[in-house]
Amino acid sequence: MTKEYVKAIGVDFDGVIHDYARGWQGGLIYGEMLPGAAESLRALMETYAVFIHTTREPHTVVPWMKDRGFHAEADNDPGRRFWDTTGTLLVTQRKLVAIAFIDDRAIPHRTWDQTMQAVAQLY
Ligand SMILES: [Mg+2]
Repeated sequence: MTKEYVKAIGVDFDGVIHDYARGWQGGLIYGEMLPGAAESLRALMETYAVFIHTTREPHTVVPWMKDRGFHAEADNDPGRRFWDTTGTLLVTQRKLVAIAFIDDRAIPHRTWDQTMQAVAQLY
């Protein structure tokens, strides 16, 4: 019998969960959760292993998420490739294996022609 793995989804933090209305402020997490973020994360966490993929230091994001009622932990495993736990947010700076990434800065890639057109339209 084949083991059934929980599928993982990576979620960006700034501009997706945190409003990031004033851009980078020296690492300070000053804003609030974006509308729909809390409910959507909770729904995703029931089915998927959700990890927050951020350039921020994980130990700064974990308490912010905990203050908002989420079970969250910082990634302390430098060799980690996977996250397969539902119900707990892993906060990591690593790009882990995932079926999808939710990111406000992403360009969905299908063909290089389409991708290069999207890059040309960046401001
Ligand atoms: Mg972002």
